[in-house]
Amino acid sequence: MRIGAHVDQADPLAEAAARSAEAVQFFLADPQGWKAPKAREDADRLRAAEVDLYVHAPYVINVATLNNRIRIPSRKLLLGHANAAAEIGAKGLIVHGGHVNAGDDLAKGFDNWRKTFAYAAESGGFPVPVLIENTAGGENACARRLDALARLWDVLGDHEVGFCLDTCHAHAGGEELLDLVDRVKAITGRIDLVHANNSKGGFNSGQDRHDNLTGGTIDPELVVAVIRAAGAPVIVETPGGVSGQAADIAFLHDRLGTGV
Ligand SMILES: [Zn+2]
Repeated sequence: MRIGAHVDQADPLAEAAARSAEAVQFFLADPQGWKAPKAREDADRLRAAEVDLYVHAPYVINVATLNNRIRIPSRKLLLGHANAAAEIGAKGLIVHGGHVNAGDDLAKGFDNWRKTFAYAAESGGFPVPVLIENTAGGENACARRLDALARLWDVLGDHEVGFCLDTCHAHAGGEELLDLVDRVKAITGRIDLVHANNSKGGFNSGQDRHDNLTGGTIDPELVVAVIRAAGAPVIVETPGGVSGQAADIAFLHDRLGTGV
């Protein structure tokens, strides 16, 4: 089981080494912006790396929304990131499930997800697995709670789509971590990646505020249990820079018995 961290995009391999990480996740552009990712000069080195690479799509992407001025550029930006992720040999592209605005029909949001995959299919499909991540907040989210996730998977069933389970988002989003993996897999059939984070916000607070694994409002052993059950690679998206994340990675190796 590979364990790593979300790191700065400038030199992800150096960041991995500094944390003894076997996997890294990073952005390929400004996470709050709409700019397409630029080709990376270190693409060859990244492709050849022992470390597994994951790309996180910008937060501004919301392919579900009924707002054309967000949805259409979101689709394009997601496909652009998938192509750029393939260039560096990434194992997957993580993107949040998105939401519709208050008063809008969530069914249309799910259908917009279907259209996103149809749009990508016009140019041969996404060249890396797209991993939809559960989110912490909002009342009209596509992937906050499992009832919505089940509807999303009903719509996307014919497409190759992966799932990224974030423990902070699940807890803050109002899903108990106990047996969560079984309940998710009953819907998606798979968990491709775990975002192992503790939560500063309480259960069902709707707050997306990550904490280090032994801090926060989640029993850290529950995070460990989720990872064990998922059997998927792990990325910590926790604060504290190199030392904070290295400690979180070491904690997981210790609890999982995967340390060296
Ligand atoms: Zn996450």
